[in-house]
Amino acid sequence: MEWPEAKLARLVKVLGAISQDGLSISGVPIAEITRRVSTPCYVYSGEAIIAQIQRVASVLGPETSLYYSLKANPSLGVCQLIARQGVGAEVASIGELLLAQRAGFPASRTLFAGPGKTDAELGAAVSLGIQAINVESLGEIERLADIASAAGKRAALGLRVNPLKHVKGAYMRMGGGPQQFGIDEEQIPEAIRLAKKSAWLHVVGIHVYGGTQIFDVDGLLAHCAHVVETASDVATQVGQPLEFIDFGGGFGVPYFEDLPELDLDAFAEGYRGVVQSCRKHTMLERARPVIELGRYLVAEAGIYATRVVDIKHSRGKTFVVTDGGMNHHITATGNFGQVLRKAYPIAVLDRWSSRVEERTTIVGPCCTPLDTLAQNLPFPHVSPGDVIGVFMSGAYGYSASSLAFLSHPTPAEVLVYGGKMHTLREAGKPDDVLANQNPLW
Ligand SMILES: *Cc1c(COP(=O)(O)O)cnc(C)c1O
Repeated sequence: MEWPEAKLARLVKVLGAISQDGLSISGVPIAEITRRVSTPCYVYSGEAIIAQIQRVASVLGPETSLYYSLKANPSLGVCQLIARQGVGAEVASIGELLLAQRAGFPASRTLFAGPGKTDAELGAAVSLGIQAINVESLGEIERLADIASAAGKRAALGLRVNPLKHVKGAYMRMGGGPQQFGIDEEQIPEAIRLAKKSAWLHVVGIHVYGGTQIFDVDGLLAHCAHVVETASDVATQVGQPLEFIDFGGGFGVPYFEDLPELDLDAFAEGYRGVVQSCRKHTMLERARPVIELGRYLVAEAGIYATRVVDIKHSRGKTFVVTDGGMNHHITATGNFGQVLRKAYPIAVLDRWSSRVEERTTIVGPCCTPLDTLAQNLPFPHVSPGDVIGVFMSGAYGYSASSLAFLSHPTPAEVLVYGGKMHTLREAGKPDDVLANQNPLW
């Protein structure tokens, strides 16, 4: 499938603009960036991230708190920029908790979810006194009670609920049916009984994350309406008003040509009704609605730039071989759990105005056929040294990839913000491959 010009033009506008210097990100030409930090690298636009946060926040309205799921892009500088916008943090490991702290997210606006939180992780969250630990199982409630009691500190608990039903239209489901995520809806009474048994725990909110890559507005709204009902039940059983209702998020990003954009305005319209319906329940009157988003805030604000090393022709097919691929950007090669492998929007950045000339397959340097960025798509004529840009690379890029695979140096991460280029993370060096290894002899 070819990527239509209009869709690519939209992504260019999100990041910056095209001028005679080619693509520029927030005013800095990508050619200058790739000269200074070398390829491969990730480049993010600070202005694009901020614009998207402002757009979402204004659509959700002032009553709702927007949270950032650090897993989408845990680069410290990106997190700092987001924290500065007044967004909360949704973390799922001790590392993300530390990053959130360092980035400036207040503990009082940090939620810690995720299965398999160790005693050490729970202990750290308890001692920081974060907004809530969203528990994923009955066993975790018991462990948290013991840890809070041993620390002599009360812990705020959010119940992550696994609803009976799936969210309609979620491409990746993380709620409904049997799940490692959340406590089954029918086990809520048991969970609340366990929490109430401990003087060290208080239930302050609920969290229901149904899945991700959702484009179906009606499905999302039905999910939210169900969460309000569940929250009301929980508050009644707890016998205390709730402080927050975390609806999850899962807003979809149209990585592929045939995916629509999520109709944010249509969602907003229905969502206002959802928020109003909370106010009808006395126990939820003061509960703060929370929407937590990862990719939707950052995906379109990033590009992965990789340089052409070699061109080869094999039995009628043209292969363009780049210096980076699935080792740096697993999602763009369709190897991150995607059912269908399709190309992300890709362009030859040095030949923006050139005519499309031939069907080309773009592959990375890893010795596996899985390392393919584009399969038989029309591109301008490419030469070694040209830079290829993979759009929509601001989320699930660097941190989601198997960076050690094939032992290439890791890519740099650059943020352009306020007309300046900030190297957020230096590129790795070839001998980093020996770091932390103990030789046998
Ligand atoms: C991964 C995750 C997110 C972020 O998902 P996106 O698709 O990036 O928005 C939010 N909440 C929870 C609980 C998650 O596990």
